Amino acid sequence: GATVIHLHVRDDAGNPSQDGERFRAAIAAIRSRCEVIVQTSTGGAVGMSIDERCGPLRLGGSDRPEMATLNVGTINFGDDVFVNRRLDTFGVAERIKSAGIIPEVEIYDLGHLDILRELFDKGAVQRPLHVQFVLGVRGALAASERNLELLATRLLEDFPGSTWGVAGVGRHELPMAEVAVRLGGNIRVGLEDNIFVEKGVLAKGSAELVEKAVGICQAAGRKVASIAEARAVLLQKPQS
Ligand code: ZN
Repeated sequence: GATVIHLHVRDDAGNPSQDGERFRAAIAAIRSRCEVIVQTSTGGAVGMSIDERCGPLRLGGSDRPEMATLNVGTINFGDDVFVNRRLDTFGVAERIKSAGIIPEVEIYDLGHLDILRELFDKGAVQRPLHVQFVLGVRGALAASERNLELLATRLLEDFPGSTWGVAGVGRHELPMAEVAVRLGGNIRVGLEDNIFVEKGVLAKGSAELVEKAVGICQAAGRKVASIAEARAVLLQKPQS
């Protein structure tokens, strides 16, 4: 059921890394196994410089990821601060665009939709827009149905034809997936956001959480997209 892999890599010591060569190896390994869309992170980990975070955007040719995340606003991230200065956001957007990569805009708070509006008006991002609502980070917007409904409604009023998904953090992952399926959105699940498959039971891997997500779609009567269908929707040529 997975159609997009949101990809991070680690160094030999297990620490988060944005090293292009690590991404190159991971992307090659994925592509040798399946046709899934590869979406590399440009968020990296808290404390990395913007330039370091953009490591995977330097991959060209057949190593190039199809998509990359674009974080548009600074938020408190637990007890840390995830810094995305306004001009840096424009810089990363331009790097993604000039690399011929499709951005997925990461929205952690309501005001980030207003930053998205400015990015769009200045041509830094283009339609069709693809947005991930990341909800439940301590210090940003909480994971609740009314917050998600507000975000999705505002996004589609401002940018009809956009796609959106939700990544609920921690225990909110699967409950928010259920809400998203009801509201017409898409789902992100996996170990980056949540490590439990149910209360107190560690997931064996992201695949187990994907199976749960597929079950949520089926229970709601929503069809799970094939990879080809996801490619047709998410990798459309940007409209200037
Ligand atoms: Zn990530």
